[in-house]
Amino acid sequence: MKITDLKCAVIGNNPVVRITTDEGVTGYGEVEASKAYLKPHVLFYKPYILGGDPTNVERVMMGIRRIGGFKPWGSAVSAIEMALWDIAGKAAGLPVYKLLGGKVRDKVRVYNGAVRFPMRDGSPESYAENVQQMKESPEGFSIIKHGVAFHSGMPRAVPDLFYGELQSAGFHANRGLLTEKGMNHIVACVEAMKGALGDEVGLALDCGPGMVVADAIKLAKAVEPLNVMWLEDMLTGDYVPYVSPDLYRDVTQSTSTPIHTGEQIYLRQNFQELIEKRAVDVIGPDPCDIGGIAELKWVTEYADLHGILMAPHGTGDGLLGLAALVQVCATLPQNYIAFEYPTGRPEWWYDIVTGLPDPIVVDSHIEVWDRPGMGVDLDETAARQYLSEEDADFFD
Ligand SMILES: [Mg+2]
Repeated sequence: MKITDLKCAVIGNNPVVRITTDEGVTGYGEVEASKAYLKPHVLFYKPYILGGDPTNVERVMMGIRRIGGFKPWGSAVSAIEMALWDIAGKAAGLPVYKLLGGKVRDKVRVYNGAVRFPMRDGSPESYAENVQQMKESPEGFSIIKHGVAFHSGMPRAVPDLFYGELQSAGFHANRGLLTEKGMNHIVACVEAMKGALGDEVGLALDCGPGMVVADAIKLAKAVEPLNVMWLEDMLTGDYVPYVSPDLYRDVTQSTSTPIHTGEQIYLRQNFQELIEKRAVDVIGPDPCDIGGIAELKWVTEYADLHGILMAPHGTGDGLLGLAALVQVCATLPQNYIAFEYPTGRPEWWYDIVTGLPDPIVVDSHIEVWDRPGMGVDLDETAARQYLSEEDADFFD
């Protein structure tokens, strides 16, 4: 089998990768909704994969993996990897999880990072109401994640949250020492959320990037009695092109609160120090940033050897990304906690992707399906109406 074409269309806001072959088998991959600008970057790889045998996924990946980087520059490589697995599974007549070593669980746990409701304001009461709504959501989430500190509207909403100048640029650009008042406000919001969730639903907190080591330690110690699931990305994180394992190690060793990072990190080599130094308790790579689902599996196995837990990221990965997460998470060892459940936005995504269960999530779990490849497909007739003029030939 040979790869005959690589196409990319922005459907809604998600760049969708389509790889075609000389045997008529087609594979899909999807990049997260915040990265519509990556379409030309996907197409950049076309000459490097044309003519390759897509069922030898690793061999094709060896040609493009080095030409990528930390978020967002690993996404195109990752989505191509997923489309290759989709083809390899369809060609073999097997679900992708079988090709990755087989499933170790029949249903995979998810956590909430994408089912969101508007916040009234930044007060502790508003945080409590907000997680209460998520708790009542029909998915029955057993873990709910919320943003606080620099990973939220707090720097703008709370006057004098920190000692820095407020940055207006996107992608969580604020960084600096928190004020005493700021720290107290964050802790009050966490207490309020735990008050609503009790011990029935786990609370995870996305906190940065941008906190300094001393504040990270203070926050982690302050919330120790509340048994939060993890504190995520306090120091580095989303769109930060480095890891800082030594700084994370200082934080992790000073507290019993689990410390988490990793969503922006590309490739196993960049997880090596973090894992070998046991610098965090939980890692959370995104399959569409780390380099693909096989890379995610390898890193999970290596983390397990070092007593580190795995909770993959996936907020914006859409419904094709959801399928890839289900396939790989079915195969992960027992250090797996849950993956961050992505939703389809706009709502019509649920009309153009076929093969997903209905309802998708029951009691915070998704049952693993058995159809070949990723086990979901794009309904070409239904999807065509959402193609831009520029992408009109996407399915041809
Ligand atoms: Mg995060």
